[in-house]
Amino acid sequence: MPATYSSLPAEKTQENHAVLNRFYPPLTLDNPRRSPMRELISTVLSHRTTHADEELAYDRMLEAYGDWAGVLAAPTAELAHAIRTTRWPDTQAPRIQEILRRIRAERGEFDLDFLREWTTEQAMQWLNDMPGIGLKTASLVLLFNFHKPVLPVDAHVHRVAQRVGMIGPKVSVEKAHHVLLEQLPKDALTLLNFHKHNYWHGQQICFFLKPACARCPLKSFCSYYQEHYGPATPEALAATPAHWDETWGKLPH
Ligand code: SF4
Repeated sequence: MPATYSSLPAEKTQENHAVLNRFYPPLTLDNPRRSPMRELISTVLSHRTTHADEELAYDRMLEAYGDWAGVLAAPTAELAHAIRTTRWPDTQAPRIQEILRRIRAERGEFDLDFLREWTTEQAMQWLNDMPGIGLKTASLVLLFNFHKPVLPVDAHVHRVAQRVGMIGPKVSVEKAHHVLLEQLPKDALTLLNFHKHNYWHGQQICFFLKPACARCPLKSFCSYYQEHYGPATPEALAATPAHWDETWGKLPH
């Protein structure tokens, strides 16, 4: 008998969260990976850029100019050269300087800690008013650094959500932020784990070109799997690993 599976998007989202929580290591809200300023500017640098190239651009920028005041004062063409490993350095350099200029003009210093005291809506609006800061970047800063109940959706999370059927095929990345958030508890720890687990899943198993469905624990309710292979058989389910296997590779940051 084929396995039964959830068919409603909200049920799939909750099932996805429960299954991936068991499959991948759990995360905690302690010790954010980066300072708020670094999270903000690094995410700007990361657009369509590998993590290694983003880190290289960030390090070269701070090595060349010392601190945020130095980055702001740098000749823009030179700054673009320093961050040349990003996809669009000539666009990102003036954008970063405009973000820094606005932060200093409004707050008097390069510090985002004030956002902790603001409501989620106020903080989101303030960040979204910055040039080039969309929902994803603002959500990463607000969730990772200030534990606000928001959900960052990047290309990996979006692809898994569409294939599984947690969102419809025409739901954009922007809209997916709202649709998925509606289906989840408004709790920062849940949202952090949902984001990271689906990000890892998109990077490590649900590949863009050839998803590794054989090792995927979501196959019993994944629309893509049903369409390509039919309902998951007991044999396919029994052959699915219960946990992420570290011999497959290192989970990204
Ligand atoms: S079953 Fe395949 S398509 Fe579906 S989420 Fe898993 S890897 Fe992606």
